[in-house]
Amino acid sequence: MLISIVVPCFNEEEIIDRFHEHVTKELALLGQEYELVYVDDGSHDRTLALLEAIAAADSRTRYVSFSRNFGKEAAMLAGLQHAGGDAVVIMDADLQHPPELVHRMLRLYEEGFDQVIARRTRKGDRVTRTVTARAYYWLINRLVDVELVDGVGDFRLLSRRTVDAILGLSEYNRFSKGLFAWVGFRTTTFEYENAVREQGRSKWSFGKLLNYGLDGLLSFNNKPLRAAVYIGLLLLSVAMAYAVWIVGVALVNGVDTPGYVTLLVTVVALAGVQMVMLGVVGEYVGRIYYEVKRRPHYLVAATNAGPPPRQQHRT
Ligand code: UDP
Ligand code: MG
Repeated sequence: MLISIVVPCFNEEEIIDRFHEHVTKELALLGQEYELVYVDDGSHDRTLALLEAIAAADSRTRYVSFSRNFGKEAAMLAGLQHAGGDAVVIMDADLQHPPELVHRMLRLYEEGFDQVIARRTRKGDRVTRTVTARAYYWLINRLVDVELVDGVGDFRLLSRRTVDAILGLSEYNRFSKGLFAWVGFRTTTFEYENAVREQGRSKWSFGKLLNYGLDGLLSFNNKPLRAAVYIGLLLLSVAMAYAVWIVGVALVNGVDTPGYVTLLVTVVALAGVQMVMLGVVGEYVGRIYYEVKRRPHYLVAATNAGPPPRQQHRT
């Protein structure tokens, strides 16, 4: 049995050597064959040079380096395409995903699970982040079809058939959390204590997180569009009722109908609602635009791995 470890790396020069040392030590303990697939996501630092050195010293290591930063989703996709293992583990390069847990994942895989998810606790996170995360997951699980769980990220083991299923999903906008959940198969989750990033810094700014959250909302179905329709209908009926009431009052009291402020607020509020709905529609149109262009998810600038053995089906 072959185990593949897929590692997306973006500007990880400070920690990549330590990561490699740590992970190979753990893998050696497993007594299974393994390979490492590093994906350099267009780093601006020495990550690629370090990966080349690692690969030169360790024949079980392959790397794929992108022509620019394409994002972690693309990096994971490339890693999965290049991974040949019967079981594939996706792992961050910053040691926030403890390599010790691969052992436990493998045991569960051997018990017959196709997806083994390591779910992190939110220990050590800022309160604001914990609270927003909780609110977000509450909301998103009411809107999308797949179930998304807080703390469940990309740290997981996938069986061969799960990987193949994921590679068969050809969408351009890839929201992995959702794709993994969509694929299904026998899934199990265990918890581990969150580790604080030791070196380098998180690549997630607030803005990036916000966009990521919006992606999750919009990637899976058209419920936001549906919601827009309902909100529109609701507002329309409120406005109609109000109109009837105003006319009634005018008829009873004569024609004195003050209401400059009411008018202004109503117009502005409606304009706002319309903008939001237009935005929602625009988001979907934008997505279609990206999908129909059929651009590749990433471009490879350097690799020691050859072309991906498992190309995605793009038909
Ligand atoms: N990463 C990547 N491309 C990016 C951003 C991040 O490949 O554009 C990698 C990064 O090198 C790391 C993993 O994705 O291995 C998780 O990133 P990070 O630690 O910044 O995220 P966090 O742990 O804060 O969620
Ligand atoms: Mg991290």
